[in-house]
Amino acid sequence: ALKTERSQHLYQQALDVIVGGVNSPSRSFRAVGGETPIFMKKAQGAYFWDEDNNRYIDYLAAFGPIILGHAHPEVTQAIQDTAANGVLYGTPTEKEVQFAKMLRQAIPSMEQIRFVNSGTEAVMTTIRLARAYTGRDKILKFAGCYHGHSDLVLVAAGSGPSTLGIPDSAGIPVSIADQVITVPYNDLDALKEALHHWGDQIAGVLVEPLVGNFGIVPPQPDFLAQVNQLSHDAGALVIYDEVITAFRFHYGAIQTYYHVEPDLTALGKIIGGGLPIGAYGGRREIMDKVAPMGPMYQAGTMAGNPLSISAGIACIAALSKPGVYEELEQKASTLVQAIEKLAEQYNITLTINQMKGAFSVYFSDEKVIDYEGAKRASSEQFAQFFRYMLAEGVYLAPSKYEAWFLTTAHQEVDIQFTIQAVEKAFQKMAERS
Ligand code: PMP
Repeated sequence: ALKTERSQHLYQQALDVIVGGVNSPSRSFRAVGGETPIFMKKAQGAYFWDEDNNRYIDYLAAFGPIILGHAHPEVTQAIQDTAANGVLYGTPTEKEVQFAKMLRQAIPSMEQIRFVNSGTEAVMTTIRLARAYTGRDKILKFAGCYHGHSDLVLVAAGSGPSTLGIPDSAGIPVSIADQVITVPYNDLDALKEALHHWGDQIAGVLVEPLVGNFGIVPPQPDFLAQVNQLSHDAGALVIYDEVITAFRFHYGAIQTYYHVEPDLTALGKIIGGGLPIGAYGGRREIMDKVAPMGPMYQAGTMAGNPLSISAGIACIAALSKPGVYEELEQKASTLVQAIEKLAEQYNITLTINQMKGAFSVYFSDEKVIDYEGAKRASSEQFAQFFRYMLAEGVYLAPSKYEAWFLTTAHQEVDIQFTIQAVEKAFQKMAERS
């Protein structure tokens, strides 16, 4: 069994001084039945070491950003060099311009960009901007998609009923929840119906163009093109939340992969190379509404800070090298094929959604294309699997709704080690049933 004495000790102290012992609820182990989350003290490449000196292969990648593995030399160097010259100026810097150009080159619909500090801020601001631009109040989103923790988007965001205006969080005024319309992902009929009812009041249709928040769920063919067409026919802007997806699957975003352009885009995670960042952008004509050019206010003391920008430039530059994404996909495919084969061998029912270097494993007998499908996957079996994998030295996200993320740091030995761990986990699960 895993030795976790120090994690337990630290968790007891954390519970006293940090609410729930964690600084983000997704880090807690409550969803996987375990009480004590593992406290990490060091990370390098594809590995974590915890406070009890256990080593883990990391497939969490910090919920997405760590695509180059931990402490990547070029990112680390950029952070160190930058820190030595001061970490925050409150003035513009050359690197912000350089980075904005890099991003626009990769994602041309982001004609103008503004950097912020998190994905939450980026999405929150695209909504305000869509409202400012259209003069309308409502937004439409898809059930189960998570867009950060601002008031509007916590409606039907990963756990609540996909019904009009029912908030998932306490503290959200009904008057705000009333402004949100939610329809199932990949359901064009539901979208048409909602736009038929409320189309002339909707400022923006907010979508994860490929879902990363109830596992990996790709759009059905034509879904994104139809979202664009129907939204624009209703006079609403299309907002892509590419916080998880940008630079995860290819050098660019989902919009440049499928060749569909939204009006506004929100970014985060990978573009900061592991440091806090967010960005939003779109057509100049829309971005002209943002202060100091226009009437929509948005600001930030830390926005575009030299550390995040330098780390982001180093990370995106490393991702531009040939072969990076092919290699990520190849490693993921090796894992997916092995997991499917072992599942068959041990009589474990599961289905896997893979997109390039990321995939999600659902203990379910049906293909998952929407949030309801993801909810029906067994939480109990995932919890067992998670705990057995942890004990074997493989760190997965502690939720059945999260993905496995490959990094450039994972080596063939790590993949083989992981496959052996999966076999042991499945063996134990088969014995229990
Ligand atoms: N949008 C999406 C699609 C996300 O996955 C997340 C975070 N998981 C966010 C927005 C919020 O980003 P942050 O946690 O940086 O505020």
